Amino acid sequence: MQEMGAMSYEIRCFECGKPTKDEKLDACPSCGGLLNVEMDLSGLKGKGAKQLGHAPMGVWRYAPFLPVEASKAVSLLEGGTPLYDCRALARELGMERLFVKYEGANPTGSFKDRGMTVGVSKAVELGCKVVGCASTGNTSAALAAYAAKAGLGCVVLLPSGKVALGKLAQAMFYGAKVISIDGNFDDALNVVRQLAREGHLYLLNSINPFRPEGQKTVAFEVVEQLGLKVPDTIVLPVGNAANIWAVYKGLSEWMEVGWIDRMPRLIGVQAAGSNPIATAFRQGKRDFVPEEHPETVATAIRIGNPASGRKALKAIYDTGGLATDVTDEEIIAAQKLLGKREGVGVEPASAASVAGVVKLRRQGLISREERVVCVCTGNLLKDPDTVIKNAGQVLKAGASVDEVKRLMLG
Ligand SMILES: *Cc1c(COP(=O)(O)O)cnc(C)c1O
Ligand SMILES: [Zn+2]
Repeated sequence: MQEMGAMSYEIRCFECGKPTKDEKLDACPSCGGLLNVEMDLSGLKGKGAKQLGHAPMGVWRYAPFLPVEASKAVSLLEGGTPLYDCRALARELGMERLFVKYEGANPTGSFKDRGMTVGVSKAVELGCKVVGCASTGNTSAALAAYAAKAGLGCVVLLPSGKVALGKLAQAMFYGAKVISIDGNFDDALNVVRQLAREGHLYLLNSINPFRPEGQKTVAFEVVEQLGLKVPDTIVLPVGNAANIWAVYKGLSEWMEVGWIDRMPRLIGVQAAGSNPIATAFRQGKRDFVPEEHPETVATAIRIGNPASGRKALKAIYDTGGLATDVTDEEIIAAQKLLGKREGVGVEPASAASVAGVVKLRRQGLISREERVVCVCTGNLLKDPDTVIKNAGQVLKAGASVDEVKRLMLG
């Protein structure tokens, strides 16, 4: 049991249950399984969420649930993102209530900041000098920013040619060493894991057990923003599959301390060209077969071998949820619909959650009365190329009132 000020926790293997004390590991030394942080929450039982008091919204509001000393946090004031009540969109889909948790409002524009504030704080605590990750883009953007804030070296490995422009710009801008790998995300992750094992860097992909700890706070915020009410359903895009696990873990912890009295069902949405979890769910399996050649416009979820896939399936089955997939056309249509009806701009991967709701509503797998929260994971500006490719045209005119009038009326 490690002691961190008031909180204590253990790191255990998700597969075989064996504990480990080495906080730099990214897998179980006995069986190679994923590691998981288990918080000792006995001191929080029964008191209720009201004891969080007036601490500002954001990840560190939930410090009693985090395995890092809050006073030493490397923070850019992440979290505390808006929960939009999407009335027009709900009406269009024949639903009573539909909310969007807008994670694009985080400091680097995606939910990855929630994980990185905890992960990089842990890296500093462990005395690591260099951090690294493989990334489809947002992880590298977030890691580069938090490494800059902490004064750490940073290396990011990106799959060549498949990273959205805004994300690439961010990773380069914050001073990380950016290396393009001739391969896909899964290949890049294999390389960076080996570098971590050889001691060259501290790995901050989401297999790092501390990252989901930060990411679970999105669930706490949703519950608080709904007036301490649990929604019926939370819908998330699924790529490497850690975030849906993080949400499950956070809600399970609030169940454990008695701050909520039921779990929502969790729905994972994948892109049709990159859908191992949705396929496993359709077959009723708790394990999945990797997709060798993942393809989708939603590059943040273009992952064929989701590292946390088994955790995600547990989260889905345990909550009576489901996994589904949507085509690229459905993703782009949902992205546009959210922008047009609600004024909310999200990147394609995030729109997958909305596309999932559209599809499941049509199939009758989401009901009219169900209170649904879509987690929209990243900002529209992350991927301007896709937006421009799918938007209408810019009209051209001379600097003349008459010409502009003609275009306005045309
Ligand atoms: C990382 C990411 C995802 C996928 O999250 P996982 O934890 O890998 O399932 C979805 N959307 C965006 C915008 C992301 O950056
Ligand atoms: Zn194990």
